[in-house]
Amino acid sequence: MISMRMCKICRKRSPKNELLRFIIKDNVVSFDKSQKAQARGTYICEDCLPLVSKRKVFKNCDIKQITEMTVKVEY
Ligand SMILES: [Zn+2]
Repeated sequence: MISMRMCKICRKRSPKNELLRFIIKDNVVSFDKSQKAQARGTYICEDCLPLVSKRKVFKNCDIKQITEMTVKVEY
């Protein structure tokens, strides 16, 4: 059974494995590919990825870093 998680931006609920999990540690955002990192996670759906910077989802964090991760996620 797969648990459902809500996208932080559009608030649509999807199975956890269809969302991208990001964690914040010491004000640095990282993409949690395994979805198992021990930290507070934020889930974003693929459709909303381009909006992450604009919506200031990770307002205290390095936006450039997120953009680089986004590229990694897509390719
Ligand atoms: Zn979304």
